[in-house]
Amino acid sequence: MLTANEIRARFIQYFEKHGHRAVPSSSLIPHNDPTLLFTNAGMNQFKDLFLGAETRDYKRATSAQKCVRAGGKHNDLENVGRTARHHTFFEMLGNFSFGDYFKQDAIRFGWEFLTKEMKLPVEDLWVSVFEDDDEAFNIWRDEIGVREERILRLGEKDNFWAMGDTGPCGPCSEIHIDQGEEMTCGPDCALGVCDCDRFLELWNLVFMQYERSADGTLSPLPKPSIDTGMGLERITAVVQGVKSNYDTDSLRAIIAHIEQLAGKTYGDNEDADVSMRVIADHSRATAFLIADGVLPSNEGRGYVLRRIMRRAARHAKMLGFDEPVLFKTATFVMESMKDAYPELEERLDYVAKVVKNEEERFIQTLGNGLRILNEEIDTLKSKGQTVIPGDTVFRLYDTFGFPVDLTADIVEGQNFTLDEAGFETCMEQQRQKARENWKGSGEEGIGAVYKQLAEQGMSCEFTGYDKCDDFGTVL
Ligand code: ATP
Ligand code: MG
Ligand code: MG
Ligand code: MG
Repeated sequence: MLTANEIRARFIQYFEKHGHRAVPSSSLIPHNDPTLLFTNAGMNQFKDLFLGAETRDYKRATSAQKCVRAGGKHNDLENVGRTARHHTFFEMLGNFSFGDYFKQDAIRFGWEFLTKEMKLPVEDLWVSVFEDDDEAFNIWRDEIGVREERILRLGEKDNFWAMGDTGPCGPCSEIHIDQGEEMTCGPDCALGVCDCDRFLELWNLVFMQYERSADGTLSPLPKPSIDTGMGLERITAVVQGVKSNYDTDSLRAIIAHIEQLAGKTYGDNEDADVSMRVIADHSRATAFLIADGVLPSNEGRGYVLRRIMRRAARHAKMLGFDEPVLFKTATFVMESMKDAYPELEERLDYVAKVVKNEEERFIQTLGNGLRILNEEIDTLKSKGQTVIPGDTVFRLYDTFGFPVDLTADIVEGQNFTLDEAGFETCMEQQRQKARENWKGSGEEGIGAVYKQLAEQGMSCEFTGYDKCDDFGTVL
């Protein structure tokens, strides 16, 4: 059986053999790109090459890129633990052509790697193309020999890829694998129709042709290029014959570590399984983000990290941990991935310290916050109501450090929702109050920055981040 480490290596070797330069992963903090929260795809570090603003001594590249999809345009935080295929942190395998080869070779390489190198069964593979992309459709049908009924034409949502609201983009073609009848989600289950795990999207081949500007217009790139991305965890699951990324060698090892620490067995109880998956995933995101220089905080990237860590801390509590444990699981992640990502080894102690410190701070208020929330739920239930009032959400946020999406996640299982408008009103009131306090303080002369902070409502430790809407998008 090929391990995840071996598959990563095989991928890079295959593309090196075909004239690609192996380029190391870039940091999760995008270099010089304020439009992007975290690195979310292999192509990010090559953005300027696609735009023609930079040239290098190679026209073909390949990489295994660290990615985080939480907050921002691509946000998979809510999916984690629930689908078998989404992570906050994952590795994206990719091959790139900067004005060199285009659709034909990109499709051939992808197909050959999957069917010859990874030996996936051709009869289980499906492909999709952008609805009016006859060129890609014809290559798949006439040159590769995929049956017409296995090639779907899909719309912009699935088959037009963009890194963010601006930047390089283009139509794409995706390779999927049918994981079998037993994975069917219902009578309407089909590729492009439902979003379940039966038709697993493995690889996205993007035909980079345009640059989108801030006003939405598309202008052609200097040279058509290729950007592809395949999740290492997904291809590993398929190659290892398991139906979930969490059953692959690398993630299962983290879960085994959690089982050991918790004294519980994975597979015994669905709720506990979800918690173990969330902790496994979030431990990876936490370790890699901190190693790349993000710190938990009340704003921007740091607040997304904090939300990830607090979700993990809550799941740890559900598993029965009352003491910090994420610093242990994050350490395990670093130990097991440091060969592929040497930066983890250098920063191991530092990361563990940061994690433990953040956990200790949150554990103090987590239990009390949960008690209040549960009391509220009981009261509402007895009245037949299902919406958590805005002032409770605000109190949890302001006094107990519960990010709003954490509260939403906790109550969702009991079919409760949050009064978002009410929460916003409370936030606004707090900002108002802060403004008034400033006016009365006679310290108008103090630096504008401090004043602005007060206006944003930074009145205590846990007060949230103004530039971050409650449900995850960081503006
Ligand atoms: P999905 O439709 O499953 O959410 P996507 O279309 O958003 O995936 P792309 O942006 O096309 O994904 O990224 C390229 C590849 O990266 C995907 O085909 C998949 O293999 C992998 N990938 C994307 N998102 C995730 C994730 N959250 N966790 C793990 N792998 C992912
Ligand atoms: Mg997605
Ligand atoms: Mg998709
Ligand atoms: Mg895709």
